[in-house]
Amino acid sequence: MSETSALRIGAHVDQTDPIAEARARQAPLVQFFLGNPQSYKGPVLAYEGGPAQLRADAEAAGVDLYVHAPYLINVATTNNRQRIPSRKLLQQHVDAAAEIGAKGLIVHGGHVTDDDDPAKGFDNWRKAVDATDLKVPLLIENTAGGTNAMTRYLDRIAGVWDAIGSAEGADQVGFCLDTCHAHAGGNPLETIVDDVLKITGRIDLVHCNDSRDDFDSGADRHANFGAGRIDPDLLAAVVRDAGAPVVCETPGGAEEHLADFAWLRERL
Ligand SMILES: [Zn+2]
Repeated sequence: MSETSALRIGAHVDQTDPIAEARARQAPLVQFFLGNPQSYKGPVLAYEGGPAQLRADAEAAGVDLYVHAPYLINVATTNNRQRIPSRKLLQQHVDAAAEIGAKGLIVHGGHVTDDDDPAKGFDNWRKAVDATDLKVPLLIENTAGGTNAMTRYLDRIAGVWDAIGSAEGADQVGFCLDTCHAHAGGNPLETIVDDVLKITGRIDLVHCNDSRDDFDSGADRHANFGAGRIDPDLLAAVVRDAGAPVVCETPGGAEEHLADFAWLRERL
């Protein structure tokens, strides 16, 4: 088996029974939310047997679990009324992810407001990493849009990484590269893997998604492979070069995901 055919490919799935979802896709990994991704309420595990049972069932099935944190977590912001609940929610999700034996918690980079100095956001990231007990790896994801975003463009990602380097627990912080977000965010996919690695030294997970929108559009709308605006060969090259486990966050259910996996494997 070649190295690329051994690449582990899975999908973002419904949280009720991630093991069944993995089985339906013959996938060695799945990603899911713990509760409502648009809510400040703490994590909720939908799995019937509870956290210890999910952990055991995942191990028995050989399925790696990844948790996606709520979208509204923004630890970078200068707004206390967002930053403080964001940090709390982040720790709660780290704890819940650890209980189920997750391989990582994925969180978006967040943003500061238009008239803020981005340096404040970088420092808030440092403080968040310092203040959080990272019982599982925290994988910071690049985002597609937003003004003054922390992880849309490379210079900002570098700012975040420089800042968190001095935080306690920095070795537990990794990177999740989303191909749709990179493309729509205005970062050439031809060089994105090298560009990111120069900054972070690691890519722990790839969110492989085609994009319904044009390069640098700032829009975040995922598409099934071949149905969007990303060059098929480039999409495959990013996955190949990153060499990290892959989560497809593409539309549809098991059938569409199996088609996406096959499409991708053909081109690796
Ligand atoms: Zn993503």
